[in-house]
Amino acid sequence: MTTDLRGAPVLVVGAGIMGIGIVQVAALAGHPVKLFDMREGAASQALDKLAATLKSLVDKGRLDAEMAREAIGRTAAINSLAQARDSALVVEAIVEKLEAKRSLFNELEGIVAPGAVLATNTSSISVTAIANGLQHPGRLVGMHFFNPVPLMKLVEVVSGLQTDAPVAEAIFELSRAWGKTPVHAKSTPGFIVNRIARPYYAETLALLQEQAATPQVLDACLKAAGFRMGPCELMDLIGHDTNFAVTNSVYEANFQDKRFVPSLVQREMVAGGLFGRKSGRGFYRYEAGSSGPAPLPVAVHEAPATARQVTVHGIGPIADHLEHAAIAALAPQGWGPARELASDWVGLSIDGARLVLTDGRTAQQLAHDFGAADVAVFDRPLVQPIAPGSALAYAVAPGSHAAWQTQAGAWLAALGFTPLPLADAPGLVVARTIAMLINEGADAVLQGVCDTAGADAAMKLGVNYPAGPFEWLAHWSVDGVVGVLRALDAEYRGERYRVSPWLRRHAHLQA
Ligand code: NAD
Repeated sequence: MTTDLRGAPVLVVGAGIMGIGIVQVAALAGHPVKLFDMREGAASQALDKLAATLKSLVDKGRLDAEMAREAIGRTAAINSLAQARDSALVVEAIVEKLEAKRSLFNELEGIVAPGAVLATNTSSISVTAIANGLQHPGRLVGMHFFNPVPLMKLVEVVSGLQTDAPVAEAIFELSRAWGKTPVHAKSTPGFIVNRIARPYYAETLALLQEQAATPQVLDACLKAAGFRMGPCELMDLIGHDTNFAVTNSVYEANFQDKRFVPSLVQREMVAGGLFGRKSGRGFYRYEAGSSGPAPLPVAVHEAPATARQVTVHGIGPIADHLEHAAIAALAPQGWGPARELASDWVGLSIDGARLVLTDGRTAQQLAHDFGAADVAVFDRPLVQPIAPGSALAYAVAPGSHAAWQTQAGAWLAALGFTPLPLADAPGLVVARTIAMLINEGADAVLQGVCDTAGADAAMKLGVNYPAGPFEWLAHWSVDGVVGVLRALDAEYRGERYRVSPWLRRHAHLQA
């Protein structure tokens, strides 16, 4: 079996958006690359487009002209698979259909040498299933690139039940040689990225369904947490049809595990043709002349009423930040906050009222547990150091006095946040979403889909997350995450918020 594939002849099958990206990367890395597509003329048209892409990179000074010329010289469009007998590696990027992929690999086994590696770029089909029926199933492996291939660093190297370890290793090393960051994954529904990412969309869709906030507010909260795009903008960009199809496929492939149940909100949008950018309307409107989501209208908060006593409660970086912010807010009045390190909650008490960092409980539940009327809960600020003006969701206990309903926001504004009111939903936006991303990452690790470092790398490089689930966990705590999940589970019941056994076991280790 070939193990060192560097410089070896490559065949790419499928001249679509992914196939041509793979040709570009392989040719620039020095491989002779042949491209085949069943649509007549598609392969040579794709190579013409590639030549134009490389020329524009050269014109912009981002690629050496000689390298571009040599790379183009190494590519060839072929109109029959038999012309690629000498390939040491085949990368398949054809239509996402099991039967089409199986029959292609069956045909290829009769053409390429028995030692050639067969790689599939499938994003959702079981690698084990694609290999079923091959003479040498051990040489079939997933090589899952992300779109756009030349820019996205991640490659999930997916092993099916029969994939030979040296084959996965050869693809891992080759991906590195192509300038990518490979991560080993086991063939399970959604592999790493498409599985762990589900709650990013699902939690927002759940909050929309219960009318907790608008898409603009939800997007603003998650962007303040460091995500490049909020979930609503991102679903609009991906296309709701595509996003819904991926969620459905993960749900179905997991025997309809309620953890992955798709959203009625999104199904309605798909049914109505509101696909997002490509159809002109999704959560936002993208008609001609419109530049997409309008900026969030932000309420102006008056200075909070003068207090007699302010105390910062709890320990950790968020409590420390609140203390600094409270010192700055109270300085003009010539006094400062007290600090109560022994409290089992983080936040501020302002005379008789409490402004509490979410632990998953709703403001109403906290008010009940504290035996206090005036309680508000605020979301978890995720980015350290917390930037001035960061958007932050908060909710006020419905039984609070009228004055506290406005004072809670005024205090958060005085502490340097841009407060965004939300319905009193457990875990608000960021805490709930991050807890669920961590939970999904934990289950993936528990099931051997990847290790913790692989999960972190995959989420940062495959979908540009600001951090990976286990990095977030390191800055939070297992108990904190489990607390939010348990509060969600208590509120909603059902399977979606069940705590991963990996987290429960680590909570015991931490205790
Ligand atoms: P695409 O529709 O742009 O291109 C597919 C190409 O394959 C077409 O040119 C088609 O003519 C050709 N084709 C179809 N059946 C064929 C066959 N039997 N033999 C030869 N050619 C055939 O699709 P795409 O977006 O490039 O996706 C290709 C694969 O990559 C799919 O498996 C998809 O799930 C996966 N993928 C896509 C993305 C993405 O963002 N588009 C990301 C990761 C993985």
